[in-house]
Amino acid sequence: MIIEPKIRGFICTTAHPVGCATNVQRQIDHVVVKGPLRQGPRRVLVLGCSTGYGLASRIVTTFGAGADTVGVSFEREPGEAKTASAGWYNNRAFEKRAEAAGRRAVTIEGDAFSDAIKAEAIAAIKTTLGQVDMVVYSLASPVRTDPKTGETYRSAIKPFGTKVRSKTLNTSTGEVTEVEVEPASDAEAAATVKVMGGEDWELWIAALSEAGVLAEGFTSLNYTYLGSELTWPIYHKGTLGKAKADLDRAATAIRAVHGDSSAYVVALKAVVTQASSAIPVVPLYGTVLLKVMADIGLGEGCIEQIDRLFREKLFTPALDDGHRLRVDDWELSDAVQNEMKARWPKLSTETLPDLGDLPKYQAEFLKLFGFGLSGVDYSADLDPRVVG
Ligand code: NAD
Repeated sequence: MIIEPKIRGFICTTAHPVGCATNVQRQIDHVVVKGPLRQGPRRVLVLGCSTGYGLASRIVTTFGAGADTVGVSFEREPGEAKTASAGWYNNRAFEKRAEAAGRRAVTIEGDAFSDAIKAEAIAAIKTTLGQVDMVVYSLASPVRTDPKTGETYRSAIKPFGTKVRSKTLNTSTGEVTEVEVEPASDAEAAATVKVMGGEDWELWIAALSEAGVLAEGFTSLNYTYLGSELTWPIYHKGTLGKAKADLDRAATAIRAVHGDSSAYVVALKAVVTQASSAIPVVPLYGTVLLKVMADIGLGEGCIEQIDRLFREKLFTPALDDGHRLRVDDWELSDAVQNEMKARWPKLSTETLPDLGDLPKYQAEFLKLFGFGLSGVDYSADLDPRVVG
């Protein structure tokens, strides 16, 4: 079949095997060209390994630090006339390239929130790595079933306390409109904390510890977004912000048991991923941010952020007052934020082409699914079950 993008709202339901493999290869090239990391973990568990920041973490540790990895992600397999999820193609492309580089890479596809997948990952660590020096927690999910009670929780990405009026962008049409988002109820806020807060991170660390697969002096990382005042009403002060604050709580709890360097929350910049494109207001902020940061020469995507985390931040930790590592420093610099704040009130459908870079945002979005990469023959007739 000829594989083309099929976009429904903020999701693309198809993915291109060769494009996804090319995307993985470009990220590997970014790390390899920069040379080996001076220090880094050699045995890593990556939760949420198939796309976005988790995939970048698996690539940086494997190709920068020479790590062997176990990865966990949630995927859709391909069928005769149906493409797999982008993450499924990314996983296959990553495994092939890691193995060619002499690194071990085992991937488990299933629900990371479940006890069964935790047990499967522990068994894989025992047989493949023995123990892990690092756990990267990079799951982004709208839903979680609590393994203890069987109850299913859905996150609600909403403000908290009061309703929020803000500009927002239809990324398909370029239309900038005002939206009014009603505040979450207490139950919705609590459910969002259940899904995206720190409870499952703590369950993973407890299960790994109990199984004896955490190496002495291990570190675990969990990714957060703090962001600028422009997104605070919908994000930082909303339900997702409450969930992210719960990561700080969980990190403190993990450090209390396992020591000072056992758990870091890492604040990263806003980038275009499947998870971030589903958050109201954030795509408009991201479209303007892409232009402002590129104009200053500070443009970064997932791989650049995670590469900088491992090369410059992780092993000489300068922590903020919440014990977090900060790689969102460039996004939140005065140079970038003063420009963002000057542009924000002027944003409209008419001014967006000058103030933001929607074509780049759209190209970045399509790239997540393997589309629009140079050198890929998109007219080729492919079997979606054959990996690139
Ligand atoms: P993403 O959507 O690209 O990746 C999410 C990963 O989680 C995928 O590998 C997916 O397969 C996996 N996953 C989802 N549900 C799962 C389940 N039940 N079991 C197993 N795997 C599952 O997301 P992302 O944007 O890279 O987000 C990763 C983390 O980074 C999140 O905590 C997010 O809040 C944080 N972060 C993102 C941004 C941003 O702008 N995208 C900024 C700062 C921090």
